[in-house]
Amino acid sequence: MSLTYVIYMRSLICSPKVPSTTSWGAPIVWEGTFDHEEENRFHQDHGTVVGLSVFAVGKYLETYLEDFLVSANRYFMPSLPCIVYILTDNPKDVPTIHVRPAMSITILQVPLRHRWQDISMMRMMDLQDIVLPLARGQVDYLFCMDVDQIFSSNYGPETLDDLVAQLHSGYYLQSREELPYETNSLSAAFIPPTMGIFYYHAAVFGGSLARLTNLTSSCLNGILKDKKSGVEAIWHDESHLNRYLALEYLPSKVLSPEYCWDNRLWLRYHKLRWAKKSYEKTRV
Ligand code: UDP
Ligand code: MN
Repeated sequence: MSLTYVIYMRSLICSPKVPSTTSWGAPIVWEGTFDHEEENRFHQDHGTVVGLSVFAVGKYLETYLEDFLVSANRYFMPSLPCIVYILTDNPKDVPTIHVRPAMSITILQVPLRHRWQDISMMRMMDLQDIVLPLARGQVDYLFCMDVDQIFSSNYGPETLDDLVAQLHSGYYLQSREELPYETNSLSAAFIPPTMGIFYYHAAVFGGSLARLTNLTSSCLNGILKDKKSGVEAIWHDESHLNRYLALEYLPSKVLSPEYCWDNRLWLRYHKLRWAKKSYEKTRV
């Protein structure tokens, strides 16, 4: 019996009861709620190609990119062709990783912005202006991910849909009042107290290219509007993403915290986990 299996079984027994469908009928994907074979077969028959975009700017490149890529090569959509889009200010220092034949890597240059908050938020601009126009003729679905994470088990086509959002592992058991939405009504990311159900993690979101085009332009407009008004949302791009997902367009699929787990919480089965944070060394 493998260690992964033991941890998975323990998670099933020890996990608090969590739903597998949202109130608007979208699936919440947990291991055990889908058929791996069926998902693989469906997407292989349809010739699905998946994109994965990741930003590695400044020190995040040397600190996190290699582990992210090596693990993605092994576990991200192993049954499907994939294109990984790496966005960096420093293309020449991107490590050479030998990836599987069905995976290819495209390196794209982005400017180094001066504040870490802007590096994080302006991903919406670079996704809109650089990644999405390129990906449009190349992939059917795109995932946008933080680089400070490591894949640990198969992260497969069960995650694909028109608009996919990730439950934040630190908040999925909290009540509405505890969710860290933007509460300043002057910010474009404001969510009124009567709205919002889940808190989503901006470290993972995905969907069809058409839907992501709408999402990135809506979030970017909010971010630029806030800059004009001299306000900044509490959790930057994540606050704007949460507003979009709560008020503008409900996700058609929600990923359980297994798909982006914070191992500092407790040991449980997962497919992607947070890497160790070291803000004092990595942030500009
Ligand atoms: N990022 C980067 N360089 C930076 C700051 C951020 O490349 O100096 C990118 C990177 O992909 C990172 C993401 O923006 O994972 C979000 O930032 P961070 O992971 O620090 O945010 P947190 O997950 O702690 O909220
Ligand atoms: Mn992160």
